[in-house]
Amino acid sequence: MNTEDGRYQRIPFHLPSIGEEEIAEVVETLRSGWLTTGPKVRRFEEMFAAYVGARHAIAVNSGTAALHLALEAVGIGPGDEVILPTYTFAATGEVVAYLGAHPVLTDCRPDTFNIDVTTIEPLITPKTKAIIPVHIAGQPCDMDPIMELAKARGLHVIEDAAHALPATYKGKMVGTISDLTAFSFYATKPITTGEGGMVTTERDDYASRIKRMSLHGLSGDAWNRYSDKGHWYYEILDFGFKYNLTDLAAALGIQQLRRSDDLYKRRREIARMYNEGFSGVEACVIPQEADYGTHAWHLYILQLNLATLAGGRNEVIRSLGEHGIGTSVHFIPLHLHPVYQKRCGYSWGAFPVSERIFERAISLPIYPGMTDADVGRVIESVRNTLHALRR
Ligand SMILES: *Cc1c(COP(=O)(O)O)cnc(C)c1O
Repeated sequence: MNTEDGRYQRIPFHLPSIGEEEIAEVVETLRSGWLTTGPKVRRFEEMFAAYVGARHAIAVNSGTAALHLALEAVGIGPGDEVILPTYTFAATGEVVAYLGAHPVLTDCRPDTFNIDVTTIEPLITPKTKAIIPVHIAGQPCDMDPIMELAKARGLHVIEDAAHALPATYKGKMVGTISDLTAFSFYATKPITTGEGGMVTTERDDYASRIKRMSLHGLSGDAWNRYSDKGHWYYEILDFGFKYNLTDLAAALGIQQLRRSDDLYKRRREIARMYNEGFSGVEACVIPQEADYGTHAWHLYILQLNLATLAGGRNEVIRSLGEHGIGTSVHFIPLHLHPVYQKRCGYSWGAFPVSERIFERAISLPIYPGMTDADVGRVIESVRNTLHALRR
């Protein structure tokens, strides 16, 4: 896209894809007189369960809430240990601490950036209760070895699928593999409700526990109590949370979910264009798609071959910024953050694979609203930048 004076318009790192259908559904909800959890949330849950093929889908107001409730449902509590990758976002670890349990970090694989299953076993103690695999960037983890290990050692598996809609593992949709999977609908995620999340599960007991705990631990269909079908009576069965999704947000979600396959196809096309555009460029390594599944392409993480460059990753980011290209870095490993160093005793050097990926990683824009010309401009800018910075 060019502006009138001939200068390039900036390509931001991310733009949500909101169409007229989303706007109309939200407006209709505003006019309906029902704003909070109601019929739109129920419809969004049914559609989501059908889309991934899960028995239950419970909508909540963030991906973090989805993870928290999933851990709560399996009974994670004070003193327990939960194993998760250091190479992830803050949410994956903080939910463990919400429940008084300890996040135990481990390293990731250099090819997929996902948790390295071979590092899990030595970390298991009598206090270990669960593993949280994260499908980084939308690339599914190799789940079979994780599920086998969990089964052998009596551990729960809760998948962090914030990036992985839609993704498949050995022909199965992510959301149907382990007992509990958490999705996020944050503004930058594959589909968005502004803020929102979903838990999928095959188990009726987990589903009813999560439903109850997402709304103050109230009995029955308490969300319904102000409608003509509802009743004023309820009982407080547990100390629950205020995690219910609004109908306003679900209205967005319903229309985003309808377009999910199309949004995914465009992201996949952009990933292919990037892969072609960067093939043969010695200064960078393109992301690999594992042959056991399909990648949701939420993020396109390019790795720099720093040995060939005079400048570091930050110079590349600065130069792309000057070319009008927005980028980001995924992720600053958890063990490099002050709270994990002060409270959990981690330090630099603990997880060399994640540190190496972090130092070399740049996330490029990958969202359906990008035109082919936008993608071409990103490729050209990256190639020119890497060429200019060569050693
Ligand atoms: C975004 C994200 C979450 C949390 O989702 P929110 O909806 O923002 O609470 C959890 N895990 C990962 C890996 C994420 O990227």
